Amino acid sequence: MPPDRRRPAPPSSLAARSVTGRTPPVAARAVALVAAAWRDLVGLLVPVACGGCGQPDVAWCAPCAVTLHGTAVRRDHAAGRLDLLDGRTLLPVWAPAVYVGPVRHAVSAWKDGGRADLDRPFVSAVRRAGATAAVHLLAGSHAPPVVPDVLVVPVPSTARARRRRGRAPADVLAAAVAAGLRDGGVPAARACVLRRSAGPDLAGLTARARGAALVGRVRVRRGPGLHGRRVVLADDVLTTGATLAACHAALVAAGAVVLGAVALAATPAPAGATPPDVARTDQPADRAAPEAG
Ligand SMILES: [Zn+2]
Repeated sequence: MPPDRRRPAPPSSLAARSVTGRTPPVAARAVALVAAAWRDLVGLLVPVACGGCGQPDVAWCAPCAVTLHGTAVRRDHAAGRLDLLDGRTLLPVWAPAVYVGPVRHAVSAWKDGGRADLDRPFVSAVRRAGATAAVHLLAGSHAPPVVPDVLVVPVPSTARARRRRGRAPADVLAAAVAAGLRDGGVPAARACVLRRSAGPDLAGLTARARGAALVGRVRVRRGPGLHGRRVVLADDVLTTGATLAACHAALVAAGAVVLGAVALAATPAPAGATPPDVARTDQPADRAAPEAG
């Protein structure tokens, strides 16, 4: 049963715009603050319900919590845009959950329903997934050097999505993935080095259409060079892999080495499309990942 007590969206209509349609940075920060205050206010006024099943008076009930308790496994083989068509994928992606049922409802409520109170279970789940990824990165041929740190790069949202939500959910997950990598012995820090320009909504598009819609829209921000830096991407949901592929391309073009990605959840594999040993076991990254960079 989907949660039926969705919270009101933050007042994104307050966004101040110049005549060019761009929001000035100071105004954008003000809008983010107002949106955050709005979320806090709504949290006080609207009774809480489980983000997964709608059970009253609990943000995330015990039965729904079980859906995030599994070990993170490789889920990249089910993402069409990551398939290199020779049995390998563009990069390994570890995710603890399948994007169905309570997880799907909760992620939607978390991203677009103002349910920042779900940070805790999601952060905890991707932190453990980061630790799992660390084990495989250290075991594989991509073993990162102790110095410098691995950069955990969140998949970027458009500025418009950030304003609407008051924050970027993937940034929250990236900090947790970095913590998980450190738990697993890999020095890591979050680095928001990618940006994404506005484009069509990807929801509902086919894998190929998503890829086409993202061409040229994900870029590396100006700042310290990424040449030779090792990167792990962080995202909320792995669907076709088109977004991760676009991020991978931008990072590799800047000279970075993309070791893999961690997501909170992945859409279910099409029936018969995923080798069972990939879906149910964790394989070292170097078994399937090509040399990055
Ligand atoms: Zn529940």
